[in-house]
Amino acid sequence: MNARIDMTTEAFSASELATPESRAQATPMMEQFIEIKANNPDSLLFYRMGDFYELFFEDAVEASRALGITLTKRGQHMGQDIPMCGVPVHAADDYLQKLIIRGYRVAVCEQVEDPAEAKKRGSKSVVRRDVIRLVTPGTITEEKLLSPSESNYLMTLSRIRGASEPAFALAWIDISTGVFRLAETELSRLLADILRIDPRELILPDTLFHDPELRPVLDVIGRVATPQPAVLFDSATAAERIARYFGVATLDGFGGFSRAELSAAAAAVAYVEKTQISERPPLGRPERESGASTLFIDPATRANLELTRTLSGERDGTLLKAIDRTVTGGGARLLSERLMSPLTDPVKIGCRLDSIGFLLEEPSLVADLRVRLKQVPDMPRALSRLALDRGGPRDLAAIRQGLAAAREIAGLLGEALLPEELAQEREQLKALPHPLWQMLEEKLGEELPLLKRDGGFLRDGADAYLDEARALRDQSRRVIAGLQLQYAEGTGVKSLKIKHNNVLGYFIEVTAGTAGPLTESAEAKGRFIHRQTMANAMRFTTTELADLESRIANAAEQALSIEIAAFEEMRSAVVSEAEAIKAGARALAVIDVSAGLAVLAEEQAYSRPLVDNSKMFAIEAGRHPVVEQALRRQSIGPFVANNCDLSPAQNGKDGAIWLLTGPNMGGKSTFLRQNALIAVMAQMGSFVPAGSAHIGIVDRLFSRVGASDDLARGRSTFMVEMVETAAILNQASDRSLVILDEIGRGTATFDGLSIAWAAVEHLHEVNRCRGLFATHFHELTALSEKLDRLANATMRVKEWDGDVIFLHEVGPGAADRSYGIQVARLAGLPDSVVARARDVLSRLEDADRKNPASQLIDDLPLFQVAVRRQEAARAAPSKAEGELKSLNLDDMTPREAMETLYRLKSLLS
Ligand code: ATP
Repeated sequence: MNARIDMTTEAFSASELATPESRAQATPMMEQFIEIKANNPDSLLFYRMGDFYELFFEDAVEASRALGITLTKRGQHMGQDIPMCGVPVHAADDYLQKLIIRGYRVAVCEQVEDPAEAKKRGSKSVVRRDVIRLVTPGTITEEKLLSPSESNYLMTLSRIRGASEPAFALAWIDISTGVFRLAETELSRLLADILRIDPRELILPDTLFHDPELRPVLDVIGRVATPQPAVLFDSATAAERIARYFGVATLDGFGGFSRAELSAAAAAVAYVEKTQISERPPLGRPERESGASTLFIDPATRANLELTRTLSGERDGTLLKAIDRTVTGGGARLLSERLMSPLTDPVKIGCRLDSIGFLLEEPSLVADLRVRLKQVPDMPRALSRLALDRGGPRDLAAIRQGLAAAREIAGLLGEALLPEELAQEREQLKALPHPLWQMLEEKLGEELPLLKRDGGFLRDGADAYLDEARALRDQSRRVIAGLQLQYAEGTGVKSLKIKHNNVLGYFIEVTAGTAGPLTESAEAKGRFIHRQTMANAMRFTTTELADLESRIANAAEQALSIEIAAFEEMRSAVVSEAEAIKAGARALAVIDVSAGLAVLAEEQAYSRPLVDNSKMFAIEAGRHPVVEQALRRQSIGPFVANNCDLSPAQNGKDGAIWLLTGPNMGGKSTFLRQNALIAVMAQMGSFVPAGSAHIGIVDRLFSRVGASDDLARGRSTFMVEMVETAAILNQASDRSLVILDEIGRGTATFDGLSIAWAAVEHLHEVNRCRGLFATHFHELTALSEKLDRLANATMRVKEWDGDVIFLHEVGPGAADRSYGIQVARLAGLPDSVVARARDVLSRLEDADRKNPASQLIDDLPLFQVAVRRQEAARAAPSKAEGELKSLNLDDMTPREAMETLYRLKSLLS
């Protein structure tokens, strides 16, 4: 019996176990455990023993804590108790899920030989075991472990140092669906690109993992990132390794890849091989994604806009939740992907909008499509499980059902003239292999077991031998019933029964008091062979019964082996059509997303945006998609629609910036965010919450909203604000959209005002972007006199009887006050404090009048002058700069490098 032990137990670590001394003292089984653990030091080892996976030593202590299961002990090692805990094999998925969510990796170690074989080597020999799979957050396929509406990406990051190539590349794979993509990136946008894909696991070479340059990125990513040996990323052998995985001689047919991309892709493939050991998931060929083809959304903006997660990490209250009307897992995943990576090509966006426009005109078609779509199971994930040989009969049924639904959906789309995107997807559906469906339909039954080894999943009539074996089994049952009757009558023991259990098989049972007729006469003794005496029953068998038993067992075994063979046949037929099935599933997802967005547009009265290559940003009657739905749900009242026009003035080249002032609680933040969200929705190819919208492609979207500190990383609220502002001022282009909600609030008034002032000037003069800038520094509104593309807008309020009424209407002009004190009163500040604040305010306002903002403008040297000076300096590079630019560092010997440095230094002096 294992005794419960204390959770705080100190246990040997993997490295302590692996010492020669420890190995020498280990029992044969522990020796095997130590060996396997040494090869998997960073995973919890699930060591199979009978019906349990057992964990030992440090793993046991960790797992018992993480899973809340009892820690026990099993014998001793080097004079110390061996901590142990275990999980039953049949419930292993649930425990794996908990561990994966907590960021653990698990090595699943199975017995790989028959215990009888091990016995042949001697009574003390240990059954051979091996790790058959590493379960890591980015490589899971089990339905229970995956969220239907989210992709499960494994991502790799590589860096190649070289003058002519971009330094970094990312590869990401979803082995549960086969998606495989690649992109080049650079340090400045690395974090944004990683967050856009939102991987469950990021692996990178250990050298990079420990590189201080990467620290700020990895600090944000946290536990998701794990280092791996650099050889996995070796770029010299990368192409060959990828080609080997895909079974091709060369990668020429895959399109060209940079060295960094090849390294990332090869590492991804190698990691899949490492974790899946002997199985190969059906990955699609790697597809390149160029950074310029997607709207760049920097990490702070992504978080602030609450696209797929709120600032507190929830799904409720996000844009995704508000616009998701999909009915399939694949559709939900695609919608989320589109939202995370909106496009920058108006033609592609137009294609997506055409699909929605078409479906909006066909409400009954949409309703029919959605009825069928609801029946579509998750085909790619079932396919992946089948390919990895982890699938069961229900996965085959999912493919069958998916193929049937796809055929019906293709039929519903008919031969009508469809917009381009839908027409393409209809072709993919038509190309799905109908014979595969027919085969599955003919063979696979309706009520299916989870596991193939349970049998009973083939239809009657699917296989003649199976029918025969089943008939024999059923017939034998009738024969047994006949035998029971015959024995009962022959012996006169009416209560005689023929029963079955796993130890004895079939046996005859009579109560102790009625056993006489079976034991007393010589004839009876010859016929009824005694097997067991229980407290109040006796059990017998007969040669007839034993014979029948072996026929039944043979028939069942034969039936099962026929079913397993048929399963394999169906499985390989499905896997050989993997490409078509994946394309079909993707088509269903596209149709689901388009139909869902059409339903949304109808239900919420959204309109089709006009998206082109201009620099327009003209939103009429725009609304905030999340706040509008929330107000309606809570019956608070209608959302007040507002216009926003940041389009270039006539004959102007660049768009405008609005400086938005207004009272606290007036709706400034809501207005700012709604315009950013409308841009995101338009570029992901959705209709938008506005009367009309004309948007010239936005290349980068930035928003700085609200204040929060990041004390864990040693940044105060004001520091975070400044870091975010710096990122915007350094990166926004004349195509970007910038949303700034208050800057300079977290410091002294004049410091803050000065920073806000300079930032507005910089955005206007240098970035030349379109933007919305909300502020309580009313002094800034004077800037519109000097900056021609800066316009003032304000949130309207009504004052009534000393109170303020928020109208939530945006109009031209500037607010002269923030009504902060009125809002503070509404919030319940004590009356005495409110009265005193009013008093202080009026004195301050008096003082301020002596130094009006207009004077400030005249006093300050013009920003433009400073910029022009900087630009002039930038325009004429020095001789030293010219020479530096032309150097090819990789081609230089250390000596040449040294000499060049001396020469450059002399040029400067
Ligand atoms: P502060 O300056 O104090 O941060 P704010 O001006 O940014 O305030 P918001 O936070 O945008 O104000 O809005 C305050 C509340 O007003 C929101 O909770 C929202 O419910 C409501 N609101 C904002 N805009 C509208 C609108 N257009 N129609 C209806 N209600 C709105």
